[in-house]
Amino acid sequence: MTEEEPLFCVNHPNVETRLRCNRCGAPICPKCAIRTPVGFRCPQCVKAQQAIFYTASPVDYIIAAVVSLVLSLPAYLIVTRLGWFVFFLAPAAGVGIAEAVRWLTGRRRGRWTWLVVAAGIVLTALPFMLLAFLPVLFLPTAGSPGRAGVFLSSWLLQMAYNVLYLVLAVGAAIARLR
Ligand SMILES: [Zn+2]
Ligand SMILES: [Zn+2]
Repeated sequence: MTEEEPLFCVNHPNVETRLRCNRCGAPICPKCAIRTPVGFRCPQCVKAQQAIFYTASPVDYIIAAVVSLVLSLPAYLIVTRLGWFVFFLAPAAGVGIAEAVRWLTGRRRGRWTWLVVAAGIVLTALPFMLLAFLPVLFLPTAGSPGRAGVFLSSWLLQMAYNVLYLVLAVGAAIARLR
């Protein structure tokens, strides 16, 4: 750089800098500069790029919500009843739901699609998991401590499958959509 006269950040007129946005050429201070795969850019340019990158319409978010709610109901009911298969089937369910959403929204990218789908998967499972707590409340009246113990251990295992399903399915879906 042969430029000797001092530059001042476009966002902070008092801050001297030697950096320029490599897209629009605006002087930016290190605080404003955003490191991108193609070099330092100003916040305005990064925002403009993201607006092009994220193309999903509001309708896409509605589709994503409906699809994830509809598909995660059978996925949850089946996968959480197949024992240790949850380790393989829950990520597969997450990927399947994410791919269905991507396909039905024309593969447009949405900044918040991953969040909508994750919420859909969690909201579907939540009522069932809350209902599952009811029998535990009546446990003291279940009769012999032995029977209660057997019930509790199988209940805990089922809860573990539920939690595993949620973590693995949501994780896999988010990884697909982000
Ligand atoms: Zn710029
Ligand atoms: Zn600045």
